[in-house]
Amino acid sequence: TDSKLPDVKTTIFTEMSLLAQQENAVNLSQGFPDYQADENLLKHLGDFAKQGYNQYAPLSGIKELREEISRKFSLQHHTDYHPDSEVNITAGATQGIFTIISAFVQKEDEVIIFEPAYDCYEPAVILNGGIVKNLKMLYPDYQIDWEKVKNLVSGKTKMIIINNPNNPSGKILKQKDIDELISLVKNTDIIILSDEVYESITFDEKPHLTLAKYPDLKERTFVVGSFGKLLHITGWKIGYVCAPSDLMAEFRKVHQFNVFCVNTPAQFAISKYLQNIEDFKSVSTFFQIKRDYLKNALKETPFHLLDCEGTYFLSANFGAISDKQDKDFCYWLTQQHKVATIPFSAFYKDKNDEKVIRFCFAKKQETLDTAIEQLLKIK
Ligand code: PMP
Ligand code: GLN
Repeated sequence: TDSKLPDVKTTIFTEMSLLAQQENAVNLSQGFPDYQADENLLKHLGDFAKQGYNQYAPLSGIKELREEISRKFSLQHHTDYHPDSEVNITAGATQGIFTIISAFVQKEDEVIIFEPAYDCYEPAVILNGGIVKNLKMLYPDYQIDWEKVKNLVSGKTKMIIINNPNNPSGKILKQKDIDELISLVKNTDIIILSDEVYESITFDEKPHLTLAKYPDLKERTFVVGSFGKLLHITGWKIGYVCAPSDLMAEFRKVHQFNVFCVNTPAQFAISKYLQNIEDFKSVSTFFQIKRDYLKNALKETPFHLLDCEGTYFLSANFGAISDKQDKDFCYWLTQQHKVATIPFSAFYKDKNDEKVIRFCFAKKQETLDTAIEQLLKIK
């Protein structure tokens, strides 16, 4: 039969995690923590399930959790989202993203995506008959060239997808990027999908600039978040989207037939847990220690490290070690040195010759130490 996604294969994250398992290698490929989440959060989950919170939640998500998300935005970013009409809980950020794209992108609509790009945007656009307009952010700085974006925008541009902080480059948007984006979308109907799942992981005191803070952007933007990243529970698959009520109403039309609602006890557990948290600065501190540990160790290897301003990914050029293609290099590294990573080419639509790979450092000390010991043997 005809494939609706002829170019799509099993994701690189699944492929490399599987290879790591087969090769008995340390898995720094797929982005997930290998340590336990907070005991209190886990206890809440069991408690709510035992107390009988096991049936359908409202389609928008439970009120308690929507209120916590709203409170989080006002505390952290001094911006308000109404918990009833402007916040919706999703089955991870992935479902939120898929539903946003499905709710707005029509046949032949153009969607601008910046590469390297996380893998779930493009297939969703294609399934909805849209056309992806890719724009590369270039090695080693991975900045957006706004002049080029201007040239890409046309009457057919329906959506721009931003990922800040960026997976895999670890770059964050600066005020000048925000200013450019504001002037770019002015007097257009362009919708912005702002994937901010790593919002709470920025380093060296650099601020996360959420698009929700800028009224000229907020009015047309879906901000997407994920509790998987914030609370170290990627397997719970609970995320959220926030947007002005007119956009949210369209989102909900699709959401109700996409999943209708998401896991009830997990929503209650997260909302109860968040009630006792005033800010999330400790998340950045927690990951900065891990980033610095891996970074300092890798300085003793032939890898050339890229700057990591946010996310839990550190990237490196391996050109001094090998002239292999990046994916071949990742296979070699997993098989010969027992450390699994992700090749940057997985984040590009077309062939890409950059010699860059991504290490995930959301790992316990022991895991990082084992990986470092292996990597130090590379000449
Ligand atoms: N966007 C980005 C940039 C991600 O890295 C991820 C997960 N790794 C997601 C979205 C998906 O998040 P979730 O696991 O909550 O679906
Ligand atoms: N977002 C995670 C990463 O970048 C992977 C999630 C997945 O496997 N789809 O590694």
